[in-house]
Amino acid sequence: MRDAAGDVGWIGAGHAPLDPARFGDKAAALSQASGIGLPVPPALVLPFDATEDGVPLAALTELERLSGQRLDDTEKPLLVSVRASAPGGGSGLTPAILNLGLTEAVVPALCRRLGPRAVADLRRRLIQSFGTAVLGIEDEDFEYALHDALKLAGAEDESALTEAELSALASQCIALIADAGWVFPEDAAEQLAQATAALRQSWSAPRAKARRSAKGHDPDAPLAVIVQQMVLGLGPEPSGAGLLQTREETTGAPHLSGRYLAQAQGEEALMGLRTPSLLFRAERERTGMGGAVLEEAVPALAAALADAAARIERGLGDAFTVEFTVADCALHILDLRPARRSARAALRIAVDLAEAGAIAREEALTRIDPRLLEEHLHPSIDPDAARDRIGQGLPASPGAASGPLVFTPEAAEQAAAQGRPAILALIETSPEDIRGMHAALGVVTVRGGMTSHAAVVARGLGRPCVVGAKDLALDREQQSLLARPGRVFRAGDMVTVDGGTGQVLAGRMPTVQPDITGAFAKLMDWADEARRLGVRANADTGEDALVARGFAAAGIGLCRTEHMFFKHGRITPMRRMILAETEVARRAALAELMPMQKHDFAELFEAMAGLPVVIRLLDPPLHEFLPHRDEEAGPVAEALGVSVDAVRARSEELAEFNPMLGKRGCRIGIAYPEIYEMQTRAVFEAALEAGDRTGQPVRPEIMIPLVSAVRELSVLRERIEAVAEAVRAEFGRMVDYTIGVMIETPRACLRAADIAVEAEFLSLGTNDLTQMVYGLSRDDAGRFMPDYVAQDVFAHDPFHSLDVDGVGEMVRMATERARQTTGAISIGLCGEHGADPASVDFCERIRLDYVSCSPFRVPIARLAAAQAAIRAKARG
Ligand code: PEP
Ligand code: MG
Repeated sequence: MRDAAGDVGWIGAGHAPLDPARFGDKAAALSQASGIGLPVPPALVLPFDATEDGVPLAALTELERLSGQRLDDTEKPLLVSVRASAPGGGSGLTPAILNLGLTEAVVPALCRRLGPRAVADLRRRLIQSFGTAVLGIEDEDFEYALHDALKLAGAEDESALTEAELSALASQCIALIADAGWVFPEDAAEQLAQATAALRQSWSAPRAKARRSAKGHDPDAPLAVIVQQMVLGLGPEPSGAGLLQTREETTGAPHLSGRYLAQAQGEEALMGLRTPSLLFRAERERTGMGGAVLEEAVPALAAALADAAARIERGLGDAFTVEFTVADCALHILDLRPARRSARAALRIAVDLAEAGAIAREEALTRIDPRLLEEHLHPSIDPDAARDRIGQGLPASPGAASGPLVFTPEAAEQAAAQGRPAILALIETSPEDIRGMHAALGVVTVRGGMTSHAAVVARGLGRPCVVGAKDLALDREQQSLLARPGRVFRAGDMVTVDGGTGQVLAGRMPTVQPDITGAFAKLMDWADEARRLGVRANADTGEDALVARGFAAAGIGLCRTEHMFFKHGRITPMRRMILAETEVARRAALAELMPMQKHDFAELFEAMAGLPVVIRLLDPPLHEFLPHRDEEAGPVAEALGVSVDAVRARSEELAEFNPMLGKRGCRIGIAYPEIYEMQTRAVFEAALEAGDRTGQPVRPEIMIPLVSAVRELSVLRERIEAVAEAVRAEFGRMVDYTIGVMIETPRACLRAADIAVEAEFLSLGTNDLTQMVYGLSRDDAGRFMPDYVAQDVFAHDPFHSLDVDGVGEMVRMATERARQTTGAISIGLCGEHGADPASVDFCERIRLDYVSCSPFRVPIARLAAAQAAIRAKARG
C-alpha cells in the first residue's frame, strides 16, 4: 500500500515476500516464513527509506485489520513489538521492544484473557524496558527496584511474585521514570512512536556502528523497523518463549536444539533467570544433560517446532535460530536469524541444503568463502581453547602445530630423526634451511613477508608457518625467543604456531583434525563441474605431487628445480659445481648431480601419471647455495676438499648488491649453458623412464625463468632442442615436450607478443612481477606491509592478493599481446596469488587457462575458480 511514508512492507496474510534490499534480512526472512504458511504474527515494516519518524496512521489501521485487534481497544487491544531489520543481518544496541500498547486502559480486557497476574507482569516489563530502551534510564535503577521487591516478598525470582507485588513494582518503575524527568505515556500510538524513534536513534549511535563494524557488518547499514503484533508468552499454560536452533553450530549436523521457558518472552530462556527446559529428548541424550524437556511436557508443541524447523530450512534455504513464543496452546514464530556456524558447519549446511533441493548448487558454492576451506585441510586450534598469545606475524601457511622450540634447522632434523616434534624459530629462512623446515612441525620467522622464502616453502610443504613476527626478538646465540613483556622462551619450551591467524602462542593447544570427505568432497565435485579455469599445483617433489593429486590438481604448474639441490647429498656437488673454475670442472660436478635430478624428475612424473608437469630451470642466484655464515665455510671447504679461503672468495665473488635483480633465472642459463643442458637432459631421460614405468606418456613442459627479452628464449630454445636431439640419437626415441616462458619481468609483459612467437606456453610469475612492478623487495615487504595495511595505505598485501589495478594491468596486457600473436597459446599463473580468491577471479576475467598454487591450497583455488565462473556467467 502507498501512503505518506512511502511503501510500507507487510508480513502475513498473503503478502508477497519482502525485498531484503529495502526491508532488511530479518523482515525478508519473516515474510518468507509467513509465505510458506508458518505461524508468523502479522507485521508492518517501515523500509530503509521511510521518511517519517513514527508509523503512518493508515499502516497502523491496516495492521489492526490484519490482527483483528485495535490499539487502545478496551475489548480486543492490540499490543505490538518493534525490532530492527538491516541488510546483511547487522544489529544495533537495542533489542526488540515488546508489549507496546499495554496502557492502563486495556488492562481489564487483557486480564479477562490472560488473568490479572500475567497482565501485571507484562505491564511492569513494558514500563521497565520502555524506561531503559526508549527513555535511556540506567537499567540498574530498575534492577534495584526488582531486587527490593523480591527481598520484600521473600521470592527467588519474578515468577514467585504475586499480582499485587508486580503491580506495586510497576508503579515503582513509573515513579522512577518520573524521577528521571519523563512521563510514561498511557497512549499506545505514543508509546509506539517513541519506541520507533528510540530504535532509530540507538541504531546510528557511534557505539552501535563500532559494534557492527567489529562484527564485520556495514557500520552505516540502513535500518528498517518491524512493527509486529505481539504474541504474549504469559498467561494460561502452556505459555512461554524459547529459541530453536535448526543445526549444530560446530558441525552443521541437522540436530535440533534449543531452550524453552514457561511464562517468558523474547530470549529470556537463555538469560539464566530460571532454569529452562530443553526442547527435544534427542538433545538430552546427545549431550547427557538432565532436566525437563518440552517434548515430554507438551509433545504437540515439540512436534510443531520440529515441523517448523524442517519447513524453514527447506523454504528459506538456510539454517536459522528461531525465536518462538507459545500462546493459546499454539506456536508462533517471532524472529529468525541465520544460525551461527563454524566454517565447517557452513559447508555442511550449504551442501545438505543443496542436496535437499532447498538451494541451487551454484548458491551452495557461492556461500562458502574459499579461504575458510583451510579449516578442512589442516588441523586447526580448538576454537573454545584459551590462547596465550606471545607474538603476532603474518599468516604465511595455515594449520596449527605445537612442539618444543628449536633454533636451528639441524636441531629440527635431529628431533625428527628421533621422532620428536619441533617448532623451528629463525630470523628468516634461506634455501639451505629447507630440510629443517621439512623436519619441523611448524615454523616461525621474525622477518619476512607473504612471499618470503619461509612463506613459500612452508606453504609448499603444508607446514603451519608464521612469518614477520616483529614483536618477537630472536637471540640466536642464546637460543631464545623474547616476547613482551619480558617473557623468555628457550629451546625445548612448548609453543604453538597458528598459521591461520599468524599467532604464536605459549604452550600446547588442542587441535581439531581436518576432514576432506563427506560434504567437503561433494562441494569440490560441484566446484569442478562449475569452473572453467584449470587448477595445477606448485610442487617440487614426488611427495608434494601426490598431495597435489590427492586434491585433484590437473597437473604441476611449477616445479622449482632449485629446491631439489638442498636434499641430502646434493648440496655438496652443487657447491662443487658453483666453485668450479673451469667448464670441465663444472661439467664434472653437474655429471654427479644429473642422476639425482633425473631421479627426482622421474618421481614427479610418475606421481602425476601423464598429467602435465612444468619444470622450471634453475632460477635463484648461485650464492644462495653457498654458506651464509662465516663459521659454515670451514665444513663446506672440508666436504669439497678445497681451502676455506677458496669458499670465502667465491662467496664474495658471487655476492650481489641486489640479488633479486642480478645474475639469476635465464641469465645463469645463458652464462653457464652446461647447467641448463644437464637439467633438460635429466628432464627428457626421466620423462622417457617414467613413461615406460607408468605406461602414461609424459609430455614435459620446460619453463625458462626471468626472461625479459625474446633473444634469451631463442638462445636457450636452440640449446634445449640440441639436447633433445642428442637424447633422441642416444635412445632412439624422444618424448613430446614444449618450451615456455615465465612472464615475471615488466619487460616480458611489454614484449609478450614477440615472446609468444617462440614460446609454446606462458606462466605468469606474479611474485617477481609484483616485486618488479612495485619496485618492492618481496623479502623485505614484511617490514612495513602490516603498517601499510593497518593504515589503509594499501587495502591488502599485493604479494598476497594480486594488485589488479597495477600488476593486474601488466598481466592483462601481457596476455592480450601474447594472444594477438597466437590465440592458442596456453597461459597460466603460478605466483602465490594462485589460490587467492580475488586474484583467481581476475584470472577468470582475463580468461587465463589455469592457476597454479601450493598443493594444500588446490581445493581453495578450485572453489574460487568455480565462484569466479559463476560470477562470469551472471555478468553474461
Ligand atoms: C614468481 O615469481 O611468481 C614465481 C612463481 O617464482 P618464484 O616465487 O620461485 O620466484
Ligand atoms: Mg619468480
